Amino acid sequence: MAAEVRPRLTVLSGPSGVGKSTVVAHMRKVHPEVWLSVSATTRKPRPGERHGVQYFFVGDDEFDKLIANGELLEWAEFAGNRYGTPRRAVLERLEAGEPVLLEIDLQGARQVKESMPDSQLVFLAPPSWDELVRRLTGRGTESPDVIERRLEAAKVELAAEAEFDTTLVNTSVEDVARELLALMAVV
Ligand code: 5GP
Repeated sequence: MAAEVRPRLTVLSGPSGVGKSTVVAHMRKVHPEVWLSVSATTRKPRPGERHGVQYFFVGDDEFDKLIANGELLEWAEFAGNRYGTPRRAVLERLEAGEPVLLEIDLQGARQVKESMPDSQLVFLAPPSWDELVRRLTGRGTESPDVIERRLEAAKVELAAEAEFDTTLVNTSVEDVARELLALMAVV
């Protein structure tokens, strides 16, 4: 049997509140050598976030320039801010034969698949609808209005699962991180 050729660009996506960043944080704790693309965003930094670490925090004009100069592999507007993946760093890693992980929203995942059909899209799904509701509500940081809007968005996002190559159900952060690493051929 021929060895499976694994795509090296992996995109992790899924509805807001499903726990994408928790999974990625855990994965990088176990395998700090796994490279994660740092996105550019027009969102303001949250306390503790640093430029060049969680994001490259840029102004609207700078983001416009990144788009105009073709420097973004994909970009999308999410909850009133723009987010985009810098193209060059991703391509350099892929050319060097290293696995690359993007943690981006669904609109971005679609764009990546279109421009790089060899990439693999991984959908992170909640164990159940009730569990997603519980997680979104349980954050305690959003007003009922905002929660309602996010849940509406989540319904649409969950329907996108069929567009993905693989679905991982987020029952355990450790298990999902392990499965993701296996898909990326890291372990
Ligand atoms: P947050 O503001 O909570 O850090 O991120 C909001 C959303 O934007 C998350 O769903 C995250 O996955 C997504 N996101 C982060 N970086 C990018 C990016 O470069 N492109 C796209 N399309 N989405 C991104």
